[in-house]
Amino acid sequence: MSDRPKSPAEILATPVQFLRGVGPARAELLQRLGLHTLSDVLFNFPRDYEDLTDRREIADLEEGKLQTVVGVVEEFELRNTGPGRSVLGVLVRSGSGWLRAVWFNQPYMAERFYRGQRLMLSGKPKREGLMWEMAHPRLALLADDEEAPRGELLPVYALTEGLAQWHMRRIVRDALEAHVDLLDEVFPAEYLDAHRLLPIRQALPEIHFPKDHESLARARRRFVYQELFILQLALAVKRHQQVALRRAPVLETTAKIDARIRRLIPFTLTASQERAVAEIAADLARPTPMNRLLQADVGMGKTIVAVYAMLVAVAHGYQVAMMAPTEILARQHFQTIERLLRASQVRRALLVGGLPAKERADLVRRIASGEVDLVVGTQAIIQEDVEFARLGLVVIDEQHRFGVRQRASLKQAGLDPHYLVMTATPIPRTVTMTLFGDLDVSTLRDAPPGRQKVYTYLVPEPKREAWWEFFGKKLREGRQGFVVTPLVEDSEQLEAASLEAAYEALANGPLEAFRLGLIHGRMTSAEKDATMAAFRSGEIQVLVSTSVIEVGVDVPNATLMTIEGGEWFGLAQLHQLRGRISRGKFPGYCGVFADPQTDEAKQRLDAFASTTDGFQLAEIDFALRGPGELFGTRQHGMPPMRIADLLRDTAELDEARRDAAELVASDPGLARPEHARLRRMVIARYGRALDLADVG
Ligand code: ADP
Ligand code: MG
Repeated sequence: MSDRPKSPAEILATPVQFLRGVGPARAELLQRLGLHTLSDVLFNFPRDYEDLTDRREIADLEEGKLQTVVGVVEEFELRNTGPGRSVLGVLVRSGSGWLRAVWFNQPYMAERFYRGQRLMLSGKPKREGLMWEMAHPRLALLADDEEAPRGELLPVYALTEGLAQWHMRRIVRDALEAHVDLLDEVFPAEYLDAHRLLPIRQALPEIHFPKDHESLARARRRFVYQELFILQLALAVKRHQQVALRRAPVLETTAKIDARIRRLIPFTLTASQERAVAEIAADLARPTPMNRLLQADVGMGKTIVAVYAMLVAVAHGYQVAMMAPTEILARQHFQTIERLLRASQVRRALLVGGLPAKERADLVRRIASGEVDLVVGTQAIIQEDVEFARLGLVVIDEQHRFGVRQRASLKQAGLDPHYLVMTATPIPRTVTMTLFGDLDVSTLRDAPPGRQKVYTYLVPEPKREAWWEFFGKKLREGRQGFVVTPLVEDSEQLEAASLEAAYEALANGPLEAFRLGLIHGRMTSAEKDATMAAFRSGEIQVLVSTSVIEVGVDVPNATLMTIEGGEWFGLAQLHQLRGRISRGKFPGYCGVFADPQTDEAKQRLDAFASTTDGFQLAEIDFALRGPGELFGTRQHGMPPMRIADLLRDTAELDEARRDAAELVASDPGLARPEHARLRRMVIARYGRALDLADVG
């Protein structure tokens, strides 16, 4: 034993084994739950509450809901039902109603009752014949003249086998009673007042053992705010580090450069494309790297905005790289760029896997020596041996949400490149503010003029034939279409087999009069290329595929789509698919066959059919799936939220984001002594996930 008194920090780090009510065996169970220290136990928030405050008259009881009744024991009976088995039935009267409480195999409980005993029972009642019954209710015995307590909100903690709920509650209660005074406040008193936040020493006991719903809400708000504030601080610090501490080439969009670029664009930019271009031009003209997210609904024309940005960089003698999530898309971007830049001097190259070794080596050499201006490719661009001579801008076309960290990978000595990230579909606002929270955002909201409507039908099975007739009629009118089947098994071989089968069925059935093509993951890129080219030229009328065409494929004459097994696709995926047929001057028709087995799948499909607004669908998707899968997944490397719920705590998210931005603006590295505590919390929680250099 040390003779010097321990500091609060040391006490908070006490191993759980030495807590009251915990020995070596229970310590092991707690550790299994990730609770190693006193501090872990104190900040292990309940995952739910048992609400014993819902007091009812027997006449008002509802089946299956936790409710509380106060009454008097009328009679009770203990019956033996076998060796070591018994049923204790207690008949309770309350007002003019009756309720039977039962306990199985707890004969000793009988000793607690006598006729006329007042008590309070909490449980989920069930109708048994004419009588309400509660099995194993929570019991509070009351003295004759004792007023029934208001009832409590009891915490419900995550448990592990061998650890009972009541035990966990006791451990937490004891820990709170003994140690809550050790907790240091994170925020200054004026800050707490100004933001209507409970002090921590008040909030922590309240969140574990709330007096009532209202004080629970106040305690919860304090911790939700704190959690989101720390996250937003981390993101703000990250932004600061990405921008202020780095140097990027100054790429000014002069009037001359602008005019030269616009001569290459075959249409007038939409108002929101103009706005995005202006925002990007302003970023590029600064000596710090751009970190901008360009988000848009499908088909709103992100590509041309990205091309504009690339041409600004090339005009200044810098190289640019554009990365797509798949090879098909990289090729398509490349073709788009080829078409636009036919008349320009820009030296372009496509870098994808599967190039002949010699060709690749030569290309890599030309990139390194600066003989190539613009490189389009897959993630392969940023790998291994590819080194740019003068990289000025990186455009990342993200299929899905890579999140914050992965973007950091493309670095070079000297100046940093500017970054433009594009998402395939709109992302929910809260996701923009969190997983993409280190980026500035430009949004394209208006579609290019002349865009046609897409009609979506959930086709019931009996209408299948009618749908194919319609599909065929439109093909005869000169349109083209897709048939998409789900990738049910995660295997290219099975994918190919089930696609072949679908293809055969169509070719010998409803679509036998038409020229069909097939595209799947097992084809070589040359085969895929040839098929896509044949589709683009109209030689192939109908392309049968799995979701490889999901993102980006742009064939304006394709206006028809049949989706089989619609229940297998996510909402964003469905929306992407539909985006393939909204690009030309003819209206699109999307028919979905589906056999939804869950409510969620039904809602998803109904939402899909009810609107074509991708921003709205993104929010619906988020609400349906919940934010759970966002954080704490390996994909993003962000630690899970402990208490905040991004679906419901949006007001706190806004507030925390504003406050964090303000604080970081005044103290970018959180270097001031009064921010030391916050800085430690930020680094401890997000330092690794966000790759935060510990400045200050
Ligand atoms: P997405 O935002 O889905 O990537 P694209 O950049 O592929 O959209 O653009 C979709 C289609 O719209 C392309 O064929 C493109 O040429 C066309 N487009 C883009 N902007 C305009 C515009 N301002 N006016 C007319 N057509 C446009
Ligand atoms: Mg696109």
